[in-house]
Amino acid sequence: MSDNAAPAFDWAQVRADFPLLQREVNGRPLVYLDSANTAQKPRAVIDAVDDFYRRHNANVSRAVHALGSEATEAYEGARRALAGFLGVQAQDLVLCSGTTFALNLVAYSWALPRLRPGDAILLTRMEHHANIVPWQLVAQRTGATIRVAELLPDGSLDLAALYRAMTPEVKLLGLAHVSNVLGTVNPVAEICRHARERGITTVVDGSQAVPHMPVDVAALGCDFYAFTGHKLCGPTGTGGLWARREHWQAMPPFLGGGEMIEEVRFEGSRFAAPPHRFEAGTPNIAGQVGLGAAADYLGRVGMARIAAREHELLAHASEELARIDGLRVFGQAPGKAAIVSFVIDGTHAHDVATLLDLEGVAVRSGQHCAHPLLQSLGVGATCRASFAFYNTHAEIEALVAALRKAKALLA
Ligand code: PMP
Repeated sequence: MSDNAAPAFDWAQVRADFPLLQREVNGRPLVYLDSANTAQKPRAVIDAVDDFYRRHNANVSRAVHALGSEATEAYEGARRALAGFLGVQAQDLVLCSGTTFALNLVAYSWALPRLRPGDAILLTRMEHHANIVPWQLVAQRTGATIRVAELLPDGSLDLAALYRAMTPEVKLLGLAHVSNVLGTVNPVAEICRHARERGITTVVDGSQAVPHMPVDVAALGCDFYAFTGHKLCGPTGTGGLWARREHWQAMPPFLGGGEMIEEVRFEGSRFAAPPHRFEAGTPNIAGQVGLGAAADYLGRVGMARIAAREHELLAHASEELARIDGLRVFGQAPGKAAIVSFVIDGTHAHDVATLLDLEGVAVRSGQHCAHPLLQSLGVGATCRASFAFYNTHAEIEALVAALRKAKALLA
């Protein structure tokens, strides 16, 4: 290495920021490979929540006392931090409990008043239930129908079929940015451009994208972008929804109550401007403050660096898993994110995951809230190992050793 070469990034030091990763499970060092389910939290996030409750706790937007302004400033500061992280304006970012809430907000406030019998909602085969069921509920109430865009054998979207499905009846497209089962990264900007040309409103589920790669939401060209905080190293019950300003301005409130009004009279109420119009009631203040700290933390580590690190881990894992006879991976799309779903022929995913747990290795098993996808893959359940930047190459070796042991026991 020449004298002026940049020193290698110290991932061990980054890992040390996560206290929980030091613990043992079943007498073994924990190998946490379930970050697509929920990510572990760095000390910066835990401390921000702790500091909020120890020093600043008060309700937001109501009290004029010092703590009230500190709490409001911390909450709005978190909104600004998240907006910066996503490349959007803070006033277009509604904070909420996560993707499920965000997508229901679009369903009830945007879609329900607009859709009519004969309209269609286009979804992809790889959607999470959170991006399916709200649309079914809206379809039942409006007479709209659901249309599905299918996948190619490698787990990528069949783009030609998707574009063919964009007929004039389609008013809305619900699309995962990254699949939580296959790891497929969808070409969202290109898809949104096609949709926009046909007057189709796009709702992107960014839950599995924002933790893995730099995402410039404004540059994607979508109408709505939902994300969840707990997969982004933030607390549970946090997240947000970005929308184009013209949508926020045209949408009626989803929930009514305190915090979202200008004035209330029994004859009628005037609502606050967005984003507060869509944040009725006392929010998860400490949680969102923690999420703001997560955005700052991830920004310091660097999302491009995180993406490169995870691709390295994924390449290593894919190579090792390919050597295990009878192990089948679902999802081989080029450039996929670090999520690996697999089955071992002749075994059940829950049995494999249970045996891995005895070795301290945490993977998720089941249907991953994606029944329609699993149905099309023709399997009842899969194991899913999902990697984050804080995982190590040694942990991949531990996964592989535990899998070989499990396979020998179950075969
Ligand atoms: N969409 C995707 C792609 C997900 O992976 C998840 C979380 N499993 C969700 C939506 C739901 O997120 P939340 O439970 O935080 O609302």
